[in-house]
Amino acid sequence: MKLCAKTAVAAASFVYGTCAFAADIDTVYSTFDTYDGDDLELTVTPETTKFALWSPEAEAVKVYIYPTGRNSAAEDSLVMKRGSHGVWRAEVEKPLYGKFYTFSIKHRGKWLQETPGIWAKAVGVNGERGAVINFAETNPEGWDSDHGPAITNINDAVIYEMHHRDFSMHPSSGIVNKGKFLALTEHDAVSSLGDKTGIEHLKELGVTHVHILPSYDYNSVDETRLSENGYNWGYDPLNYNAPEGSYSTNPVDPLVRIREMKEMVKALHDAGIGVVMDVVYNHTAQNDDSNFSLTAPGYFYRHRPDGTYSDASGCGNETASERRQMRDFIVNSVKYWAKEYHIDGFRFDLMAIHDTETMNQVVAELKKINPDIFVYGEGWTAGDSPLPVERRALKENVSAMPQVAVFSDDLRDAVKGHYTDEKDRGFATGKPGLEETVKIGIVGATAHPQVDYSKGNNSKKPYALSPAQVINYVSCHDDLMLTDKLAKSLPDESVADRQRAHKLAETIVFTSQGTPFMFAGEEIFRDKKGVHNSYKSPDSINAIDWTLKHDNAELFNYYRELIKLRKSHPAFRMTTAEDVARNLVFDNVNESNLISYSLKNHANGDEWKEIKVVFNGGNESKTVKIAGGEWLVIARDGKLVADGFDRIKGGKITVEPRSALILAKEK
Ligand code: CA
Repeated sequence: MKLCAKTAVAAASFVYGTCAFAADIDTVYSTFDTYDGDDLELTVTPETTKFALWSPEAEAVKVYIYPTGRNSAAEDSLVMKRGSHGVWRAEVEKPLYGKFYTFSIKHRGKWLQETPGIWAKAVGVNGERGAVINFAETNPEGWDSDHGPAITNINDAVIYEMHHRDFSMHPSSGIVNKGKFLALTEHDAVSSLGDKTGIEHLKELGVTHVHILPSYDYNSVDETRLSENGYNWGYDPLNYNAPEGSYSTNPVDPLVRIREMKEMVKALHDAGIGVVMDVVYNHTAQNDDSNFSLTAPGYFYRHRPDGTYSDASGCGNETASERRQMRDFIVNSVKYWAKEYHIDGFRFDLMAIHDTETMNQVVAELKKINPDIFVYGEGWTAGDSPLPVERRALKENVSAMPQVAVFSDDLRDAVKGHYTDEKDRGFATGKPGLEETVKIGIVGATAHPQVDYSKGNNSKKPYALSPAQVINYVSCHDDLMLTDKLAKSLPDESVADRQRAHKLAETIVFTSQGTPFMFAGEEIFRDKKGVHNSYKSPDSINAIDWTLKHDNAELFNYYRELIKLRKSHPAFRMTTAEDVARNLVFDNVNESNLISYSLKNHANGDEWKEIKVVFNGGNESKTVKIAGGEWLVIARDGKLVADGFDRIKGGKITVEPRSALILAKEK
């Protein structure tokens, strides 16, 4: 097993080689009889317990029944019988509630090690064994009527990416259930300096959706040793359809992690906040020992022509979404999370390892459950893949997935500097020549008559059909988060000056067409002590120090107003490329680190007739010419008030260094 260093590569522009598609292997697997029924793994009724395992090449299959989730001898074993479509079945004429189980298959004459299967919905500690539970007992009060916030388009969302431990572990958080799902159910938490933390902080900030880092059962944190405070981002999947045990208050009891995760979802929904889950179907933590391999050896992964695992994930293997049973697994798994846990959105890790057809099926099936569910992902891989480039769910291929959105590395790298070079600066930190790439971000990577894509740094042509296909961001769990990036790239500047650049960078994100995405804690200027790949760093690096909220109250208020501005003005949330091309008009400024544009014609039904947006990323004041008449001042010189704080007449207006000027013409 290779420990996943999960993407030091938050990469964008991976150079693709010409790894030959392992056609012979694929031909063999395409002949396998697949099964799309929803009764795989386990079905329990008051009268029976039925087991079912898809394993077309198995020569024999057994189920072992255990009294506990680990360290106990089997109290029974059942021989499974081969049925149709490669599915093996066994049945016991009583409900086995409270018991645990594993499968073992005989493959090429050898019994393989036990596995909970790939569809375990409840597991014991460390996910070693599946658990037979009564799901009705996992639902919190009011669950039947629980639902997430209504949303018309994905770009009405304001997404907040967080890790459970980052958010609540710090001693200053005031949260009782630190590092747990339940942290987000505590409404009275305040920091040691008296500021709201936890879910009340999220409400105060105004975000619409929380994007939680992997919360299915992952491999790296030992759930039997929680006092050791192991930390991991969780990009090392073990059991895809059960929650992670270390985020529960008792990982030994399989019911608890399920109930507590649902309680978290319900608390967020009651606060009007949706829940997006980070899903990592592109690889597994283990290779030959994974639940996939122990269920149907070879089938679920891609290989090189020599038979070794191909590795587009950079983590030792990559799954094969183009194969029927793997594709169905992904589609059915997200459907399960949407139905059972009321999840409102999915973020696909290294999405380009999957094929576009799989992603289209994912979103089509989710929309049938809840049309407000949205899907976005990383439109890149972390290495070459046997899957042909044209089939990959790449950023460049997003037009083949009209209901899927991708992260804009264009805006990210152009605004704050390239992710591969810590010291590199961007538009907002004074580097010239990135104006056109920032403009690609501002128009949501759609075709626009005033944007010259040939001057783009990352993309050379418009790739989005509509701005709703783009996620804008400058900070996330990967790479240096914004505070650290500013410290590395502006080493000689004061904290106050870095915060000016910080505000400017995020103002570009939140006013651009597309969906804004931010990283938890950046709104109070948290940092990660300069660690760019903190996937297994201790809490001392990753936990958010909530006393920073007191120290950086002014920055926090800026974020609140910025989010309020975006939410109150649909002009920032246009839904078609045609609207953007017609209503978003750039001014001819032709100066380094200066961009000026208008949102005209009451864009997208906005109450304001025109919004003027000017960004000065330079270190000196600049002058722009603003059309005559009276303007409401929304942002100027590092201050932003969504409803305006001043009025000025048009003419020559100064734009202070590293700041945004936003003006509104009301009618
Ligand atoms: Ca686990």
